[in-house]
Amino acid sequence: MTRIVGILLCAGGSARMGFDKLTRPIAGKTAIERSMDALVSGGSDALVFTVSETNRAFVESLTCPVPKTVVSGGETRAESVKRALGGAETADIVVIHDAARCMASPALIRRSIESAVRFGSGIAAARAADTTMLLDGETPVPLERDRLICMQTPQTFRFGEIRRAYEGDLSRATDDCSLYLAAGYTPRFVFAEDERANRKLTTADDWLLALTQFARFGTGFDTHRLAPGRRLVLGGVEIPFEQGLLGHSDADVLVHAVIDALLGAAAMGDIGRLFPDTDPAYEGADSMLLLREVVRRLAELGLRPGHVDATIIAERPKLMPYVPQMRARLSEALGVPVGAVSVKATTTEGMNDEGKGLCISASAIATVL
Ligand code: MG
Repeated sequence: MTRIVGILLCAGGSARMGFDKLTRPIAGKTAIERSMDALVSGGSDALVFTVSETNRAFVESLTCPVPKTVVSGGETRAESVKRALGGAETADIVVIHDAARCMASPALIRRSIESAVRFGSGIAAARAADTTMLLDGETPVPLERDRLICMQTPQTFRFGEIRRAYEGDLSRATDDCSLYLAAGYTPRFVFAEDERANRKLTTADDWLLALTQFARFGTGFDTHRLAPGRRLVLGGVEIPFEQGLLGHSDADVLVHAVIDALLGAAAMGDIGRLFPDTDPAYEGADSMLLLREVVRRLAELGLRPGHVDATIIAERPKLMPYVPQMRARLSEALGVPVGAVSVKATTTEGMNDEGKGLCISASAIATVL
C-alpha cells in the first residue's frame, strides 16, 4: 500500500485581500475546508495542516475525514513545508497544497499523485496565458510565451526525494518544485485543464471568481387565491386593490417565492417545512419577517443571498408603480444592494387562473454565496 499524506498550507497571511481569505466562508465553506475536501477526495490517507496563530483554533476544530495533524507554520512557506514534512514521516508520497487554491479539483490532485507514484513527482502547472517579459533593470526582455509554464499546487513528490530537497538552501525558494529541481531531480508536470479553475485566492477578483464557482442557485414558485376582504401585500408593499390574497400568513406570494428560492439554493427544504401553516404563530404573519428569519438561518450555515430575480404573474392591478418599493424592501431584508434584486410583473393575457383574476402567482430564482 502506498501511503499518501497531504500537506495543507494554511499559515500564509492575507495581506493583499484585506481579510482572512482562508477562514471566511465562500458559499458556506471556507477555502481551508474546500482544499481539505479536495485533498481527501483526491486520495490522501492523512493530512498535515500548517497553521498560523490566528487560524490554529479554527483548523483544530475542523472535522477531517482522515487522520489530521496540526503544526505551526514557519516564517516562510518553505519553512512551513519543512516542518510539515517532519510530521509526515510515514508517507510514501506527499501532496503539498496551498489552502488558498481552493478551486483545485480532486481529479487534478489524483492526477498529480498518479504522476508522483510513477515518475517521482507530479506538479500542477498551467501554460502561460499572458505575454510575459523579464525586466532586466529597466529593459524588458520578451519571453517566448509558448514555452512558459506557471507553477501551481498541488505539488506531489516521493517523500524521500522532497525531504532531501528540503535539506538544501530554502532562502530563495517560493515553491517546492524549485527546491526539487535544485536538488537535481527532474520534475514532471500535470497541466490543469483550465488555468483559471486552479487560481489562487490573492486579489478581490479571485475571491469573486471563487464565489461564482461555488454559488448555488435555487428556484421558487407560489400561488395564492384572490379573495375580497383581504389586504394585497406583494414584496412587503401593501397595494390598494378591491381584493387581497388568501392565506395563513399575509399571503405575500412574491416573498414566498423568494424564500423558497433561497431555501432551495441552500437545500434547506421549503417554506411550508420551516413555517408550517398549522402553526398559529404564523397566522397573519408579515412574510418579510419570515424572509429575515430565512436570511438569519442561511447565515448560520455561512451562506448569504447573492442575487434574486422574480416575476409576479397577475392580471390586475397594475404593479409597475410599486416595483421600486418592492425591490427596496426585499434588498433591505436580504442584506444585498437594490441592484441585486430584480422584480418583474407580467399578465397572462386573460388566460389561466391568473388571467381570470382568480389568483396571483410568483416565481423566483436566487443565488446564495
Ligand atoms: Mg405561499
